[in-house]
Amino acid sequence: MGSLRLQSVTKRYGDVVAVTDMNLDIEDGEFISLVGPSGCGKSTTLEMIGGLTKPSEGSVYIGEEDVTDLPPKDRDLAMVFQNIALFPHMDVFDNISYGLRIRGTDSDEIEERVDDAVEVLQLDGMLDRMPSELSGGQRQRVAIGRAIVRDPEVFLMDEPLANLDAKLRVHMRTELQRIQRKLDVTTIYVTHDQEEAMTMSDRVAIIDDGELQQIAPPLTCYNEPANLFVAGFIGSPAMNFVDGTVSGSHFEAEELRVDLGSTDVGDATDVTLGVRPEDIHFRAALPDSESLGSVRASVDVLEPIGERMFVYLIPEKAVPTDRETGGEVSQQYLLMTVDPEEDIEEGADVEVTFDRSNVHLFDTATGGALLHGLEDEPAPTP
Ligand code: ADP
Repeated sequence: MGSLRLQSVTKRYGDVVAVTDMNLDIEDGEFISLVGPSGCGKSTTLEMIGGLTKPSEGSVYIGEEDVTDLPPKDRDLAMVFQNIALFPHMDVFDNISYGLRIRGTDSDEIEERVDDAVEVLQLDGMLDRMPSELSGGQRQRVAIGRAIVRDPEVFLMDEPLANLDAKLRVHMRTELQRIQRKLDVTTIYVTHDQEEAMTMSDRVAIIDDGELQQIAPPLTCYNEPANLFVAGFIGSPAMNFVDGTVSGSHFEAEELRVDLGSTDVGDATDVTLGVRPEDIHFRAALPDSESLGSVRASVDVLEPIGERMFVYLIPEKAVPTDRETGGEVSQQYLLMTVDPEEDIEEGADVEVTFDRSNVHLFDTATGGALLHGLEDEPAPTP
């Protein structure tokens, strides 16, 4: 069985705690991405699963077996890394079959497994080529081929597409998904690229500073981020944040006063409102029943990027908050996305509002999510 479990796993290097009390339960056949900013502990987590690094505390299970103390060769898994180390003096066949040959697998079986891998990887007709005669994508597929012929229970991949150019990376994402579906092998995939994680995975595990922040299907992470970190990390461009306070049934920040209706935010008083760029609309374009608050702003910069246009707004009052998200942009702006055909000019004064059903509230102190979307309509203004 290719299920996998990390139980209270911690890894320390001297004073550095690389991974803190990590718990993961991964089902047989799942594609899981470990994602987070550089240095957050993704590779260390993967290395502990692979047996390249031993946890300081906690246990690693593959299926029902506790493999914490087993060396890599006794774990039924295969790894693919960022730096593709193909043997330059061996052709594709020899590169793919190398691991099987040193294990003494018999030659008929090797032929059969390489044939199967070549079919999955669409490398037909290339078995005689040397690595120097292959494109970057083909070389990466050969590296994956080496992992596939081992027929492991679990694939571990550490940024395997990082060295490819942008176009090829997008293509290889699709390829990898196709291969993984076909082989139905549990796959743990490390990346710092949230878009890569979101597009490929059954579930995404978001890590910050050695701690697991959330593990959930991509759209759950997007629509119901567990905390401020996930909210700022997942989604591009990043979510806007505005710090404020809650008193009674209102959220207030500078000139932004939001009726929370019957929504209960518990004891939290310092609250951060989060709204994605696509959930900000011109005030006139959204009916009152769906809108929330009103922010006057001037248009600073317009950035058309093709199917959308980014609008950088400088609000008159309600001040967007800088957040350490590991994502992009620090936010003195409120960033809005609109249709590229939208009739709008730099320097214009506008009034915008937020889509009620898609705003998020977080406890500013703990970062924890309080709610996602206000369901009920605002009380009528007296
Ligand atoms: P990521 O893969 O998310 O970039 P890593 O797992 O490589 O992060 O590293 C997590 C933390 O552990 C970092 O602070 C890194 O400097 C530290 N670290 C990783 N490997 C070692 C090591 N062999 N010795 C000391 N510190 C390490």
